[in-house]
Amino acid sequence: MAELEGLEFGKSDFVLLDEVNMEQFMENLKLRFEKARIYTFIGEVVVSVNPYKQMDIYGKEAIDAYRGRELYENPPHLYAVADAAYKAMKRRAKDTCIVISGESGAGKTEASKYIMQYIAAITNPSQRAEVESVKNVLLKSNCVLEAFGNAKTNRNDNSSRFGKYMDINFNFNGDPTGGHINNYLLEKRDIQAVLSALQVIGFSEEEIDSIYRILGTILILGNLQFETDSESVQVVGLEAVSHIAGLTTTKPDNVTKSLLFRTVATGGGEVIEKGHTEKEACFGRDAFAKALYERLFCWIVARINAVIEVKDYNPVLHGKNTVIGVLDIYGFEIFENNSFEQFCINYCNEKLQQLFIELILRQEQDEYQREGITWQHIDYFNNQIIVDLVEQPHKGIISVLDEACLTVGKVTDTICLESMDAKLGQHPHYTSRKLTPSDKTMEFHRDFRIRHYAGDVTYSVEGFLDKNKDPLFQDFKRLMYNSSNPVLKEMWPDGQLSITEVTKRPLTAATLFKNSIVALVDKLGCKEPYYVRCIKPNEMKSPVLFDDARCQHQVAYLGLLENVRVRRAGFAYRQPYARFLQRYKMTCEYTWPNHLMETDREAVEAIVTQHGFQDDVAYGHTKLFVRTPRSLFTLEQERAALI
Ligand code: ADP
Ligand code: MG
Repeated sequence: MAELEGLEFGKSDFVLLDEVNMEQFMENLKLRFEKARIYTFIGEVVVSVNPYKQMDIYGKEAIDAYRGRELYENPPHLYAVADAAYKAMKRRAKDTCIVISGESGAGKTEASKYIMQYIAAITNPSQRAEVESVKNVLLKSNCVLEAFGNAKTNRNDNSSRFGKYMDINFNFNGDPTGGHINNYLLEKRDIQAVLSALQVIGFSEEEIDSIYRILGTILILGNLQFETDSESVQVVGLEAVSHIAGLTTTKPDNVTKSLLFRTVATGGGEVIEKGHTEKEACFGRDAFAKALYERLFCWIVARINAVIEVKDYNPVLHGKNTVIGVLDIYGFEIFENNSFEQFCINYCNEKLQQLFIELILRQEQDEYQREGITWQHIDYFNNQIIVDLVEQPHKGIISVLDEACLTVGKVTDTICLESMDAKLGQHPHYTSRKLTPSDKTMEFHRDFRIRHYAGDVTYSVEGFLDKNKDPLFQDFKRLMYNSSNPVLKEMWPDGQLSITEVTKRPLTAATLFKNSIVALVDKLGCKEPYYVRCIKPNEMKSPVLFDDARCQHQVAYLGLLENVRVRRAGFAYRQPYARFLQRYKMTCEYTWPNHLMETDREAVEAIVTQHGFQDDVAYGHTKLFVRTPRSLFTLEQERAALI
């Protein structure tokens, strides 16, 4: 185990730091990165630093070493977490989830792949072809989603997908039977590998052809220009229009019309066509390209789900169906300039942090109660107040935004900010420049600041309203719905709504986002959680550079110090008496080779007392509770010396 390697590799669990402070944390993290020890525990949480080089730690020997073992019996590794989740699922029939967070490039997706590979490797490769096919589809679909999620279009080379949640279903044997994928898109929006993957998953030729057609349309839209002549706006070059019409099987005239006009219902119920300004036309075109991409992506996910979803599962015949969920999601984000996207991501992280604390505390409390151990008070910051600031009905920031979007007439970002100031000015986690005019770091009337659990973030309100509105003119939806390509038609069911039906407000981006995050938290909330926190060591993709400032930033925003504190407050480890005995009985004369005491518990007491850490434990009804990992490490060392 890692501890046996000696301290020149740093501490394998941050809980072992002499003091919990940023300095010691960073020192240990850096030392371990430099010694190519990319994983470190915080109790059961794995902190990972992207090595930016191939590591020889994922092979078959590693898989065998971690299989069926307890977390602290091996060096920190993703496999330790994957195995813990798998064991909980198989032995205790618990639904579990593994939450992998960190900023873009921190190694989340790689981590989720290693975890899935581990799970695939340890499940029984039974004769049944279906099991193999589910594994296959899960791994392949990962590749497709990656390719699409990260695809770059001309105008927007920044992918907007920021989260992916994947459920893997297991039967009572612990074999995968199916899965389900959810994607979290924020915004409206290797090809050979993708092609073969799509075929494995079961896409038809026709469907693959439609995918290419849509991607082609997006590319053409990316290059399409408008010009304003004496009286009206025109598309530059008619080939583009006929090309789009050809790809989408629509009429060129209708394509032109959707690009240049929008249909609106007047107050009197009359329907008229209103010409775009050049600016509006550009805006519409971009929104259309993004929407095509987003719908294509969602449609692919839905098709994959249809293939991998558990079918014909009969609990009586097949036993309880359990789930391991893997969530790959952006961590807290803070840039020089923070906008609507960061606001959404950071809100999501507030929700996840809340769940994290709630689940860990609840889990602890339940177990202590079951085992008859006195509950230890754990002091922590409850971030509910920040979650409320964002999502509370009628009062929260999202509600103010939505209200501004609903208001007819000219509401600007600045007016919206004023109404936030009016409603939220008293809130302890909200400020804006107007409220503290002396704050020179904020711009007058364009910024507001939220005191997040992980630190202060200043958001520029510019563009918030536009990003919150559904920017896509109904005319495009109708155009696509009327395509004679059935795949396209299927993607645009809302194109059949009449213009008067449409005037009813669609849900805003922020509200849709909130709803999906609430659903996600509900999904996670009923599972036993495991966590992987990913850190990007530098911006250069260098395997040797540890950028102290950047790393410290991430440690702060991932809430890792708080994590260590919560962990140190309670009991870090617990183990059933029998299992503890089995592993450590050779370290004590009274228990080797067999003990003569009445109960296993007494025998365990003998071991604990002999090693002198009786103050570090509590005795539950069926389990030994150990406060710090240090005690177990000592035992592990002795055991290793004896065998
Ligand atoms: P994220 O999903 O967090 O944006 P990725 O998982 O795609 O980040 O990782 C970005 C890149 O970093 C990968 O393409 C790979 O080159 C490198 N990387 C990440 N994790 C590892 C690892 N465990 N071993 C080797 N390289 C890695
Ligand atoms: Mg990724």
